[in-house]
Amino acid sequence: MKKVGFIGLGIMGKPMAINLMDAGYSLIVLDTNKSAGDLTHKGAEAFSTCKEVAANSDIVITMLPDSPEVKEVVYGKDGILEGIKSGAIFVDMSTIAPSTAREVYDSLKEKGVEALDAPVSGGQVGAEGGTLSIMCGGSQAAFDEVMPLFQVMGKSAVLIGDAGAGQMTKACNQMIVGMTIQAVAESFTLAKKAGVNLEKMREALLGGFAQSRILDLHGQRIIDRNFDPGFKIKLHRKDMNIALEAGKEFSVPLYGSALVASHMDAVLASGKGEYDHSSLALLMEQLANIK
Ligand code: NAD
Repeated sequence: MKKVGFIGLGIMGKPMAINLMDAGYSLIVLDTNKSAGDLTHKGAEAFSTCKEVAANSDIVITMLPDSPEVKEVVYGKDGILEGIKSGAIFVDMSTIAPSTAREVYDSLKEKGVEALDAPVSGGQVGAEGGTLSIMCGGSQAAFDEVMPLFQVMGKSAVLIGDAGAGQMTKACNQMIVGMTIQAVAESFTLAKKAGVNLEKMREALLGGFAQSRILDLHGQRIIDRNFDPGFKIKLHRKDMNIALEAGKEFSVPLYGSALVASHMDAVLASGKGEYDHSSLALLMEQLANIK
């Protein structure tokens, strides 16, 4: 079985790594936050540099916050580029800019290494349950080779196109998710101020055309006042920026996304960046003067 290096063991990476171990893969792990990354008690091997992780792995997976962190682990001192073997495959499952994904692909190609951008949707619940939706950019050969791992971590994996295509798809995903949260947050705020029972409303709407996973899960979060992450709103704001930059690059006006990004900025400015992205509802309630 292939040896898998896994760098970035946060809310998403840790359960993904555990699922791979449970499926029988030997894992080499690294996280700058030692307590987050400690899977040694489950049998994982730990190294202190990305270079060593890469040198000892057939497939290297990263699940990091953003483009700068991915660039740091790839290009930095004692980074992946210094250690990775020709013939290995690099799979970045973080959500980052498509342009960074293409840049990393080109750099690794020069070392005889295939790279896949393979961001995911499905959140913490999907990571824990191995039911993520994985959207990929890269070559068919690399995709086929990594498929057995994707099948452990996700319920679907689709090769969308060349390097960067997975990240562009993820940016579109985040636009839809962000605008849907905005819709749920606004409608729940109106209903609350109008004295409508939110639990009954959620139940009724889930049976109709407005049904969605976001109405289901985040509607429940708003009712329960549970804004523990989940998906940190500061990370979703990062994703909206990726989408807005892509809109600029391709001259596509993204009015709805721009509005949601501004609302997220207001949540961040109030010091709630670590809250779940469903906390957009808190801003809407504040604007509606709901105590
Ligand atoms: P997180 O902040 O919980 O985890 C990131 C981990 O990376 C942390 O444990 C951190 O210590 C580690 N890290 C940061 N820099 C590092 C470095 N240089 N070397 C090694 N480790 C480093 O974030 P998360 O929620 O797990 O998200 C990870 C990625 O997945 C992000 O790109 C996010 O946008 C994406 N994503 C998250 C969700 C979600 O619901 N949480 C869903 C889909 C996609």
